[in-house]
Order: sequence, then structure tokens, then C-alpha cells
Amino acid sequence: MAGFPIEFAGRIKTLPPYLFAAIDEMKQKAIARGVDIINLGIGDPDLPTPKPIIDALGRAAADPKNHQYPSYEGMLAFRKEVADWYKRRFNVTLDPVSEVLTLIGSKEGIGHIPLAFVDPGDVVLVPSPGYPVYPVGTSFAGGQSYLMPLEKKNGFLPDLDAVPKDVAKKAKLMFLNSPNNPTSVVMSKDYFKQVVAFAQEHQVIVCHDAAYSEIFYDGRRPASFLEIDGAKDVGIEFHSLSKTYNMTGWRIGFAVGHKQVLTGLGKVKSNLDSGVFQAVQEAGIAALRLDDSVTDGLRKVYQERRDVLVPGLKKLGLEVDPPPAAFYIWVMVPKGYTSASFTAHLLETAGIVTTPGNGFGAPGEGYIRMTVCTTKERLAEAVERIKKAGW
Ligand SMILES: *Cc1c(COP(=O)(O)O)cnc(C)c1O
Repeated sequence: MAGFPIEFAGRIKTLPPYLFAAIDEMKQKAIARGVDIINLGIGDPDLPTPKPIIDALGRAAADPKNHQYPSYEGMLAFRKEVADWYKRRFNVTLDPVSEVLTLIGSKEGIGHIPLAFVDPGDVVLVPSPGYPVYPVGTSFAGGQSYLMPLEKKNGFLPDLDAVPKDVAKKAKLMFLNSPNNPTSVVMSKDYFKQVVAFAQEHQVIVCHDAAYSEIFYDGRRPASFLEIDGAKDVGIEFHSLSKTYNMTGWRIGFAVGHKQVLTGLGKVKSNLDSGVFQAVQEAGIAALRLDDSVTDGLRKVYQERRDVLVPGLKKLGLEVDPPPAAFYIWVMVPKGYTSASFTAHLLETAGIVTTPGNGFGAPGEGYIRMTVCTTKERLAEAVERIKKAGW
């Protein structure tokens, strides 16, 4: 039988190609040509998950009580551990029962939250360049993204005063992300205070993505949005164990803050998924209990890499600042290039995979993103190769 034409829904047909899929295709072609690729494209820690976490998973996986459906909102023991971690790290007090929700990675919660609060035609404020899940989750819910450009002249922070009053009035949610992917910029507590005031004035729910809060340099710890007075009355914060503990494959994160906002997200989740494998939550508890020496060690590795790559690129005449946090280097492309043509140039002439800045939204044009998720020897070689290739 010939079957019949299979038509994708409009929401799928209008999707931009998933950024990393396009990069991957370019990379595969180069590998097929025999090129020794240095991949500075993907933000996925290259180091293994710390052993105490793996051991905790092994023990918990063997226990039959963990083999059944977990509760959709997460084990209370995990949520208590999150609350304890927030107290220690940020001096923020959370009620583990009503102010903490376990997620199957923070991407899951970020993608789903518009379904809880955005009706067709509603506006969502989205930083751009930014994590593609913010506008895509918005569009899946039928909402309209209003892009807040991150520009050098504003220190790559959204200019809240530039959001037109009628847009702010219509906005239901606002996504923010500090430390930022792709710019690595960190928001100050003063900036967060402006966000709280803006959210109160316009009745916008703030969804702050803090996935990189523990990847910071020079001992300067980024703040939590929830450290600000009144923040818990206007929004929530997304967190992840992925970047902090090299657990991207494990799929565990959490959201904390405003009870009613978490209740909405929980309603979506309870109808779509069945929570995180309890053994992974037990491993998450072990992760959050690790002492600082583990995360200090990871930060030291990334900082050493940053301090190879950034000065190396600067020496070659590229315009780039050392990031204060996260593992991204946001590089301005040289004159005569676009984001796409410079990405292609580095791949063709130096075998280096990077990500074109406009892939994170049109305001990212003129930049490329590099990551430090590879050894410092390879980063030094990348600098050498770019030097040889020139532009
Ligand atoms: C990696 C990343 C996340 C975390 O994703 P998980 O689903 O928790 O693995 C969230 N936000 C941003 C901006 C990221 O880069």
C-alpha cells in the first residue's frame, strides 16, 4: 500500500532548523573528508560525572522501591535537598513542599511553562540571542515572542526601558538567563531589582534560567534572582544539575519560587510526564551534598581553559572579553564576515566547529560562540590553527 502524505502540524513546519543539528551536519561532512575536528560548538561538559553521584545511582537503581512511577512533583527528599542547597548557596529560604518542583532537566520545564500561562496571541519577552527553547516553547503554546536584543552597548543585558509600554502590558511571561548562554554575561543584584520592579508594574511572570550559576570564575559567585526582595512574588528560577555536576545525560533539574507559578507548571507536567526516575533523584541528592571542592575543581579546569583561549584569540586581533561565568566565549567576527561566513571559514580553513551567533536569534548576528568544553591543549591548538589560517 502506498499510504498517504504525512503532514507536519504548522507549529513544527514553521520551526527554524534546530541549531545544533545544522552545525552537526557541517561537522559530519568535514569528518567524512578526514578533517581532525576541534569542536568548540557544543555546550556539553566533556568531564565525567563525579564518582559519588554515580555510586549513589548504582545503589538506588538496585532498590526495587525505585522501580515504580515516581511522583510527578519529585521526591520530597530531593526537594528538601534543593531547599537546603539554596539556603547554603544563596541564603534563600524555600518551602520544599510548595516552592520546589523537580524537572526532567531544566529544558523540560522551560519548554513546558508557556503551556501553563500563555494563551494564543499572548506575548512573551525573550532575550535574543538566547537559548532557543524560550521562543520555541512560546510558539508551541501559540504565544508571540517579543525579542529583547542583547547588545554590547547595554552590556548584553535586556534594556527593560526599551520594551514598548503596550508590549509590556500584553506580556504574560519574561525569560531571563544569567549567567547567559551565549554571551556569558552575569546579571547584578541591581539589575535583578529592576526586573522585579518591571514585573510588578506590568504583571509579568519572570522565568529566570540559572543553569550556569555554579560555573563562575575568579571567585565571583553569580546571584540568584530569588535573593532579591519580592522576587518570589513575581517569578521562578530554573536550575539544573547538568552543568554544575557534568550530568547533562542524566536529565534532572528543578524550578523554585512562586507557588502558584509552580502549580501551573506542575499541572502541565502531571498531564504529560511521570517525573524523574527516583534513582536519578537519589543521585541528585548525592550531587547537591558534595562539598565545594568538587565544583571548585571543575571551575578551575574551565578557568584555565578560558585563560588559554581568550588571550590567544585576542593576540590574533579578535574582539573578545574574558567571560565572568559559564563556558561560552562570545567573539565578534572580523570585518567583512557574517556569523555564518566566519563559522564556515573556521571550519573550512582550521577544522574548528563554532556556532554562528545569529543561530541564537537575529540580534546575535556579527558574533560566533565558542565553548571551553575541550582540553586546554586542544584550545591552544585551535588558536594555532586560526593563526595559520588567518582571515
Ligand atoms: C544547558 C542549558 C540548560 C540546561 O538544560 P538541562 O535540560 O537542565 O540539561 C538550560 N538553559 C540553558 C541556557 C542552557 O544552556
